[in-house]
Amino acid sequence: TVKTRFAPSPTGRMHLGNLRTALFNALLARSAGGAFLLRMEDTDQARSSEAHARALMADLRWMGLDWDEGPEAGGDAGPYAQSGRGEVYQRYYDQLVAADLAYPCYCTERELELSRKAQRASGKPPRYAGTCAHLTTEERARREAEGRKPTLRFRVPAEQTVTFQDLVRGEQRFPTEEIGDFIIRRADGTSAFFFCNAVDDALMGVTHVLRGEDHLTNTPRQLMLLEALGLPQPTYGHINLITGEDGAPLSKRNGSLSVEELREAGWLPGAVLNYLARLGHHYTGEVESQLLDLQGLADHFTTDALGRAPARFDRHQLTHWQQLAVHKADDPTLAPWLEQLPDNLSADQRRALLAAVRDNIAFPADLAAWGRRVFGELPEPEEATQDVIREAGPQFYAAALDELDTAGGDFSALAKAVRKATGAKGKGLFMPLRAALTGLCRGPELGPVFALMPAEVARRRLEQARE
Ligand code: GLU
Repeated sequence: TVKTRFAPSPTGRMHLGNLRTALFNALLARSAGGAFLLRMEDTDQARSSEAHARALMADLRWMGLDWDEGPEAGGDAGPYAQSGRGEVYQRYYDQLVAADLAYPCYCTERELELSRKAQRASGKPPRYAGTCAHLTTEERARREAEGRKPTLRFRVPAEQTVTFQDLVRGEQRFPTEEIGDFIIRRADGTSAFFFCNAVDDALMGVTHVLRGEDHLTNTPRQLMLLEALGLPQPTYGHINLITGEDGAPLSKRNGSLSVEELREAGWLPGAVLNYLARLGHHYTGEVESQLLDLQGLADHFTTDALGRAPARFDRHQLTHWQQLAVHKADDPTLAPWLEQLPDNLSADQRRALLAAVRDNIAFPADLAAWGRRVFGELPEPEEATQDVIREAGPQFYAAALDELDTAGGDFSALAKAVRKATGAKGKGLFMPLRAALTGLCRGPELGPVFALMPAEVARRRLEQARE
C-alpha cells in the first residue's frame, strides 16, 4: 500500500512552498487509500526547535492535513524526529563500513578547497578526488594520532549510471563519474541529510516521495545508499519550485506568505488548498474550476497529472479561490469574522450583514469595511460614484428623502416611490441610490443592505447627495 510523507526541518514557519509539498503527499496517500506520515528532520540542532515543530504541526492541522503516523500520532517506526534516531543511523554506518562501502576521510576543509580549485582550473567539475579512499590501516592510524577527526564518505561505485523513473520528470540518468564519494557523517558525528532522509524513508515504509526539484540531484545518491544497504527504494517525484510573479524562487520579497500570515489575514484553508493543488497538478473536466474538499481533491489526484509547467504564484488566482471558499463556507468557519464588526451591533445584525454581503467579500477586513459602510461613517465616495450622484441631481435625492420614512427600510418600496416621483427607471434609478447609500457603484444586492441600514444613516447620505 502507498505511504507518503512530509519531512520538514523545523527551522522556521511553514510557508506556501512546503505547504504544497505536504499537500501533494497527503493527496497522493489519500487518493490511493494509503497513509501519510510526518517526520521531523531536526538534525540541524542549532536551527531546529521544539517550538517550530509544534508550530508546523499546528499549521498542518489548521490546513486539515492530519497525518496518520508520526509525532503525536504514533506508529511502529518511531521515533519520528531524527534527533532521536542516532542509534539507528549508527547501525547503518557500521554496516557500510564493515562492507567497505564507506570509509573515513581525514581531509581538512582547506585541503578540499585546494583540490576543488585545482579541478576547476583544469576545467573539470569539482568532486571529491578520492584522497582517503584507499588509506592503509597505518595511514589511518597516523592521521588519527595527529588528532584529525574523520568524516565518513560513501564509496560511489565507478562507471555506473543511476537510472530512475521520476514521477514528474520521467526517466533520469546520472553517471556515477559525476558524483564524488560523498559525506554521510560529518566530523562532529552528525548525519548528513542524504543519509538519514533515505534510511528513514526505507525504515518507515515510505513508498512515494514528492519533493521539490532542489532535491533532484540528491536522489541518485540516496538510491545508491539504499541499494548498498539492501533497503527498499521509494519512487521519487520532483515538483517545480514555486516562483514569484517575477520568476525568481518564491520568497518573502516576491509574495510568499507563511501559513501563520495566511491565517491571520483571514485566508480560508479550503481556498489555499484548492489553489495549491492546481499549482503543478492539472485538474481537468468539471472539477478544474470547482472548489473541492480534501477528499475531493484526492479523488481526482493522479501522479500522471503532475506537470512541469512553471509554478508561478498568482495572488489573483488565490483570491479567486478565496471568494469561492467564502461563498461555500459554513457559519462556524466565518464566525470569527463577525468579531471584527463594531461592538454596538447585535448578533442578529452581524449575521444579517454577513449574509447580505457574503458574495462580495473575500476577507474579514472586507466585512469590517461593510460594517462601517452600513452602520457608520461613509468613507469619501470614489470619483465614479460622485459622477453618478452629480448626474442624478438634487431633485432626484430630494424625492428620495421625501419617500424615505414611508418606505421604512423596504428598498423596493423606496425605489418604486422614487420612480413615480422622478420618472427615473432601471439603471438610472438604482445606480444613484446605490451610489448615495453605499458610496460604491457596485456591490451586493441593495435590498438586504438597505434593510439593515439605520434610518438616520440613510437620511444623512441622501442629504449629502442632494447638496
Ligand atoms: N527535510 C528536507 C527538506 O525540508 C526533506 C526533503 C525531502 O522531502 O526529502 O527539504
